[in-house]
Amino acid sequence: MATTPSNKMRPKPHLPPNLPSLVATAFSRSVATKTVNFYPTSVTLLTINSIPFQLRYSPSLASKPKPPSVTTPKLFFNPFASPTQEMLITPFGTSPPSHNLVLNKFAVVPEHFILSTSAFKPQTHLLEADDLAAAYACIDAYARHNKELFVFFNSGDHSGASQPHRHLQLLPVENMKEGLEGEWDVLAKGLTDPNTRGKLPFEVFARDIEGLGGDGEELRRVYLELYNQACEAVLGVAEDIKHEGEAQISYNLAMTNNTMAVVPRLTEGGVVKDKDGQEVGNLALNGTVLAGTALVRSEMEWNALREDPDQVNQVLGRIGVPNRARM
Ligand code: AMP
Repeated sequence: MATTPSNKMRPKPHLPPNLPSLVATAFSRSVATKTVNFYPTSVTLLTINSIPFQLRYSPSLASKPKPPSVTTPKLFFNPFASPTQEMLITPFGTSPPSHNLVLNKFAVVPEHFILSTSAFKPQTHLLEADDLAAAYACIDAYARHNKELFVFFNSGDHSGASQPHRHLQLLPVENMKEGLEGEWDVLAKGLTDPNTRGKLPFEVFARDIEGLGGDGEELRRVYLELYNQACEAVLGVAEDIKHEGEAQISYNLAMTNNTMAVVPRLTEGGVVKDKDGQEVGNLALNGTVLAGTALVRSEMEWNALREDPDQVNQVLGRIGVPNRARM
């Protein structure tokens, strides 16, 4: 049988055992030298159909580069092609290293970091077993220090993605809780419960993945199962769903220690209006939506959404396939 990238035997990726402190040290150093833009965020808690949802205003996002489709592709700088020493946390994976861990230049919470492929691979192609194994190895490395990581991936025009070089993003959960008053936890962790999924305005597919790390082959089987369900929800057909190369839909993926979730995406978000009905911005959601988080990039949007939180609910109703359980 032909050997494909996803069924080659490969060892489990090894990471430095002190990963959380390595990330923390790199982050503080780069904030001090202003290599990383991090401004303290403001956060408030909303309740969306009885799910605690955080709205986080992150001024760093205002300076984040736009995707190449809205800039000139020739001028587009790829930050993951050869990361500088200051941005690089560590290379890792089998030899030669398949992946890099790098700091996110526009951190939404402290120690926001990125897992990117060492060689260029498209963000819109399906993830391979070694990408998933590498992400789960990071989750495991944090778990060894009793810390949780939320991993997310944005793929396709409607997913909130901006960089074409393949990368997943990682957020330490304790930092996502910073500044919050009230009960909130990562939404994805509860998404294997159909009651929780049923409360969301959009369709989401989820499976238990606890302990499935290893070489990533089992994770990839789960990922493809969820991806198939997402494709069927958008395209309405079960046949002709390809498991290599370009993805056929826009979607976000989320991973925690126990859950993998995939949400098919139809739009990036929607407009935000102030109390006089004037448009003040656009709420664009990415994979952090699967953590129960909406990131806001301007103060005007932040004020308008806090005044009228139902606008968040309306945007959530537009980003994906309407949830059949709620119709
Ligand atoms: P996405 O928008 O999902 O494609 O993710 C791309 C991420 O890369 C965003 O979270 C950006 O903040 C981050 N980013 C953009 N430019 C750089 C850079 N020069 N170095 C590190 N991270 C960056």
